Amino acid sequence: MQVARNKVVTIQYELSESGKGKLESGTLDYLHGFQNLMPVLEQFLADKKEGFSGKIEVAPQEAFGEYDADMVMKIPKSEIEGSENVKIGMQIELESAEGVFPAMVTAIHDHSIIVDGNHPYAGKTLLFDVKVLAIRDATAEELAHGHAHGAHGHHH
Ligand code: ZN
Repeated sequence: MQVARNKVVTIQYELSESGKGKLESGTLDYLHGFQNLMPVLEQFLADKKEGFSGKIEVAPQEAFGEYDADMVMKIPKSEIEGSENVKIGMQIELESAEGVFPAMVTAIHDHSIIVDGNHPYAGKTLLFDVKVLAIRDATAEELAHGHAHGAHGHHH
């Protein structure tokens, strides 16, 4: 069996920042062809067979975007509910015209806090070391949901 649209693929991956250290690793079930993974990674895995392993380097613009200094914002404490409990390193949710997005608290001042709304991997060139462990047909339910279920898939 080959990786193709409507297949559930189990991959083992190790993600590093290119030329630097390891960021994370794990095992993942994903439904191929439903944008569960970043497009460049899906393209890389297409047509591969069980047991395939390989590495791919992904530029920031194909992964989590360039680091955007405008996403670092100063917010008055008066605008943040429970601001007395906010700590550095904490994720908080900010509301914008485009909806709610997570941001990391990077500094706390007397009357304001500084948050960074960039994805933690923004601006990083990523290196994926991927192995295809298993490939199977997706169930009708998985196709209807647009994601894989099971041990390493989506939990409801
Ligand atoms: Zn589901």
